[in-house]
Amino acid sequence: MKQGINCSLVIPVFNEAENLDELVERCLAVCKPSGRSFEIILVDDGSTDGSTEKIAMAGREYPELVSVLLNRNYGQHAAVFAGLAQSRGDIVITLDADLQNPPEEIPKLLQAMGNNVDVVGTIRTNRHDTLFRKLSSSLVNSMVRRATGVMMHDYGCMLRAYRRPIVEAMLQCREHSTFIPILANSFARTTTEIPVKHEPRRQGDSKYSLFKLISLQFDLLTSMSTFPLRLLSLLGTVIAASGMTFAAFLLIMRLVMGAAWAAQGVFTLFALLFIFIGAQFIGLGLLGEYIGRIYHDVRARPRYFIQEIISSASEQ
Ligand code: UDP
Ligand code: MG
Repeated sequence: MKQGINCSLVIPVFNEAENLDELVERCLAVCKPSGRSFEIILVDDGSTDGSTEKIAMAGREYPELVSVLLNRNYGQHAAVFAGLAQSRGDIVITLDADLQNPPEEIPKLLQAMGNNVDVVGTIRTNRHDTLFRKLSSSLVNSMVRRATGVMMHDYGCMLRAYRRPIVEAMLQCREHSTFIPILANSFARTTTEIPVKHEPRRQGDSKYSLFKLISLQFDLLTSMSTFPLRLLSLLGTVIAASGMTFAAFLLIMRLVMGAAWAAQGVFTLFALLFIFIGAQFIGLGLLGEYIGRIYHDVRARPRYFIQEIISSASEQ
């Protein structure tokens, strides 16, 4: 076991210079009285506004702080990963640097973790974001729930707690596009959710432009399943089946009503077209199935993680 630290905070920072002092202060104020051993890992994700220097300085000043400086901007989830790799705590908590996730909620997370919960998720009560962000995130959340089968309400909130084995499991996943809350849930045996406060951004603007948001959604979609690829075969089957039904319907009507009814074969052409289009989609879906498998193999996620091996022979 690494040096018995109880709790690590991992905070990705991208151009948050105005928030840093308050962030560090509030995190320390929460962690110090808790009686736990803790570390705060600030990951600078290639900031250009002086955050880098601030983080470096804070790392030298406070013994509880670990500063990780990335050489350029890699994105929030990559930055969190860099922090996870450095963390030593039995419990790791991630949060945002913009103080939208109040550090004062951390004790609640630790309490919810109890003895046997692997992942603590959070639900943002009275969320302070734009309507567009709220709507798109409720859409995404319901989609993720359906695809992963894990009942969590709010995947977008990064104020979360993970137990060490889950962190180690995530670190062994080599894929580049990841969405940490979903990845963590795929390794968790027990999860729970608690409501937490959400505050408006203190300083600066959201670091997510519309384009960055869209690419994040794609990361999310492709990281959880190859279901979208399968959708192609499904669509193809539906089109082909409706083409065949249409053809059968035409045949019957033609026999009953005579040649004029079927507009001299024009409708038949449509029915045939439907069947062929459907067949094409099924073909695409099949290709997709292979691509999906290739994707799984390329990611090469470990098949399983051993939590512990117990044998009387190994005890000394
Ligand atoms: N962030 C990062 N790299 C990026 C974008 C964001 O490390 O490329 C950090 C950012 O500093 C903040 C967190 O990720 O701590 C969440 O970003 P933001 O508050 O802009 O997102 P929003 O709250 O709008 O979802
Ligand atoms: Mg924010």
